[in-house]
Amino acid sequence: MKLLVVGGAGYIGSHTVRQLRAAGHGVVVLDNLSSGHAEALPDDVELVRADLLDYPSVKAALEAHKPDAVIHFAALIEVGESMRAPARYYRNNVVGSLNLLQAIVDTRKVPLVFSSTAAVYGTTDAVPIPEDAAMQPESVYGETKLMTERMIHAFHTAHGLPYTILRYFNVCGAAPSGDIGEAHPSQSHLIELACMTALGQREKMMIFGEDYDTPDGTCIRDYVHVQDLADAHVLAVEALNAGKTDAVTYNVGLGHGFSVKQVLDAVDAVVGTPLDREIAPRRAGDPPRLVADATKIVQELGFAPQFTDLQEIVQTAWNWHKGHPHGFEK
Ligand code: UDP
Repeated sequence: MKLLVVGGAGYIGSHTVRQLRAAGHGVVVLDNLSSGHAEALPDDVELVRADLLDYPSVKAALEAHKPDAVIHFAALIEVGESMRAPARYYRNNVVGSLNLLQAIVDTRKVPLVFSSTAAVYGTTDAVPIPEDAAMQPESVYGETKLMTERMIHAFHTAHGLPYTILRYFNVCGAAPSGDIGEAHPSQSHLIELACMTALGQREKMMIFGEDYDTPDGTCIRDYVHVQDLADAHVLAVEALNAGKTDAVTYNVGLGHGFSVKQVLDAVDAVVGTPLDREIAPRRAGDPPRLVADATKIVQELGFAPQFTDLQEIVQTAWNWHKGHPHGFEK
């Protein structure tokens, strides 16, 4: 197949591009490079530098490259920032996605795989969370992903657009080769922050709340390795293109979780020295447990995560950060 990967120069996008190439597919990336990195792409992958808000460029890319399917990752993803700058998030994530949908139906009406998030569920009592759990996003970021999911479904109903939506849980780790990884302008995620702390770029780790109703009192999350998530996209786009699936939504996670303390213990073991830790107040909006019910993607697409050992997951993140302490910057 030939895929147009929108947002393919970002963290999850670049790992997916790798796995698509490894599976023998052709790839063209469309990215505005606002947070992505051209260096994260293989040399034989063409990069179209364009913004989803520029409809003519998006349409022109579809007409020029004639992909068999589109995978859409391009989005702003910082929860806190989305609360401070909602217009930017609605415009970029919702209007940008609307332009992409319009361009697809105006040109080739090819299948779409969309990158969504467990943030669409918000705080839920369901443990683990199935795909049909209530959706009440608590951030503008989560809201923009849910709105895009609904637009995609409306385009399916009105125009027959085939789609698969993947809702990710806590994505982490890096390609075992250590040459691509998470390089966001602002780091907010637990494993990434712990690696930065181990590199001496931060003083210590804060544990946000030790009084949750969990075995060790800290929050539990479902940490899915970015390469396994990338493989989920390969499975999803192949099944969609073969007509085996349509209009389906899958959670992507391991189906079990690790606590903040378990993650920090794994980082200590991998790095070889314990990081300073401090117990801090709970972070607003953090549910005690967020774990995927991933049964559907396992049964229907044969999703079989390779990275289930927490230390191994952390090791891949550490290899990347140690080798690239400033991300892709020299
Ligand atoms: N967390 C923490 N200290 C940090 C960063 C995160 O204790 O410096 C906790 C956070 O409160 C949550 C878990 O780690 O319970 C995962 O947070 P992250 O931001 O990585 O992902 P989220 O689940 O918010 O998407």
